[in-house]
Amino acid sequence: MELIDSHVHLNFPDFREDMEAVIERSLAGGLTAMVNVGTDASTSQESVNLAHRYREIYATVGVHPHSADGYTEAADTIKYLAHQPKVVAIGEIGLDYFRNLSAHDKQLDAFRAQLELAVVLEKPIVLHCRDAYTEILGVLERDYLPRLDGRLPGVIHSFAAGSAHAQRFLKLGFYIGLNNLITYPKNDSLREAVKLIPLERIIIETDCPYLPPQHLRGTRSEPLHVIEVAKMIAELKQLPLKQVAEATVANTRHIFKLS
Ligand SMILES: [Zn+2]
Repeated sequence: MELIDSHVHLNFPDFREDMEAVIERSLAGGLTAMVNVGTDASTSQESVNLAHRYREIYATVGVHPHSADGYTEAADTIKYLAHQPKVVAIGEIGLDYFRNLSAHDKQLDAFRAQLELAVVLEKPIVLHCRDAYTEILGVLERDYLPRLDGRLPGVIHSFAAGSAHAQRFLKLGFYIGLNNLITYPKNDSLREAVKLIPLERIIIETDCPYLPPQHLRGTRSEPLHVIEVAKMIAELKQLPLKQVAEATVANTRHIFKLS
C-alpha cells in the first residue's frame, strides 16, 4: 500500500541525529513521496537541499507566520528558492493568532506578499491557520482567489476546525490537510467535520516532528505515522483503508503536480 506524507519537517533539529535512517525507513515502509515544508529562509533552503538529495522528497518554500517579523530580510531568498526544481508550493504561510509570535500587521504583510509570489509563479499554497480562520478567509477571498484563473488554490494544512469552516475552504477550492490531530480524544468536532469532507479533497500529513498519533503522544512523530491518519479517516468514513490511501496519494500528486 502506497502513502504520501504531504507535510514534514525532516530538517528540524529533532531529526539531526538520525534523519537518513528516518527517511530510509519511511521509504521502506511504503511512503512514495514526502513534501518537506519550509518555515523561513534557512529551513526553506534546507528543504530544497533535501529535495535535491532524495528523489522522493519535494520542497515548499515560505515564511511561517511565527517568523513573519523577519519576512523583509527573507524575501529575496524565498523568491530565489521558489524557482528551484522540485519546489511544489509556497508555504507554509498564513496567520497564527494563537501564539502571536509575530505582530498581526507583520503576519498580514508577509502573508499577502507570499500570496503574490504564489500567483506570479502559478504555484499552490500550503496554508497555516490558527485562531484566525475568519481573517484568513477574508484575505484569500480578496487578494488571492480572484487571481487564480482556474488554478487550484492549495491546501489548508493541519486542519483543526469544524464543519462550517471545512465547507468554506472546500467551496473556495482548497484541499484539506489532515494529520494525527484527528486521533486526539478532545477533537470530536474535527472528527465530525472529517466525515463530511469528500475523500477526493483530503490529503494526509504528519507535520512531523510534531503531532504524533494519540498512542504515541509525548514522542517525536515521523513520516510513517501518516498511516494512523489514513486509518482514522477510513474508520470515520467506513471505507477500506486501501481506498483512503489511494485517494489521498492521487490527491496529493494532483495538487502539488508531483511527477
Ligand atoms: Zn508544519
